[in-house]
Amino acid sequence: MSISKQLLTFLLLGVLGLTACQNNAKSVNDGASIHKNIEIDSAEILTEKVLTAKQQAALTPAEVITILKKGNSEFVSDALTIRNNSIRIREAALGQYPKAVILSCLDSRVPVEDVFHRGIGDLFVARVAGNIVNVDILGSLEYACKVSGSKLIVVLGHEHCGAIKSAIADVKLGNITALLSKIRPVVIASTQFKGEKTNSNEEYVQHICIENVKLGIRTIREKSPILKEMESKGEIKIVGAIYKMETGEVEFL
Ligand SMILES: [Zn+2]
Repeated sequence: MSISKQLLTFLLLGVLGLTACQNNAKSVNDGASIHKNIEIDSAEILTEKVLTAKQQAALTPAEVITILKKGNSEFVSDALTIRNNSIRIREAALGQYPKAVILSCLDSRVPVEDVFHRGIGDLFVARVAGNIVNVDILGSLEYACKVSGSKLIVVLGHEHCGAIKSAIADVKLGNITALLSKIRPVVIASTQFKGEKTNSNEEYVQHICIENVKLGIRTIREKSPILKEMESKGEIKIVGAIYKMETGEVEFL
């Protein structure tokens, strides 16, 4: 029922697109975007499946990085597919076997699944301001990898991060103070940075952002013997990355 409904919606969009395209042949921009809609193969809508336990087990950490890089490149270039979400919701209801777990900042401008062009059942996403690591995050990462079989941990920082800027400014406010205290060691240790150490210096903010991601990775290895062992056996990889606000690109460190 809902497959037919989705297919019908798609066909309708296609027909409208075709009509609009014929009527607006002179409008180059509109025409290009309409053609893009028409060119999506209808099979693409219906074939993408939720990952199974067998498929998850067959993946290596390096392959998962490749998949995420490809997904991000599709996100950046708008080469996106239409997902059969109603089917995926039902498939995923039976269990989940996500490829990776992403530890991301809270920031609303970093829609994690979209950024990697992944859908239902593909990724675990742990979100906390400043993508800091605490005991609850460690528990979540251990659950994702040790219990649920994910192959990759990505600590994902981002440009222009408010938490990073607040940590630089040493903001004190309610429970935010305790959260920022997880980032402050990076600020305090940044003695080697040449230049103005304020949150209005974008270069410095970016430096602290990258160092904060590295601190997150170190903390995971130091505070989680489970994840450290999995990494040393090659069962998982723990990597850092930065999301670029202006382009949507994810740069793996
Ligand atoms: Zn942020």
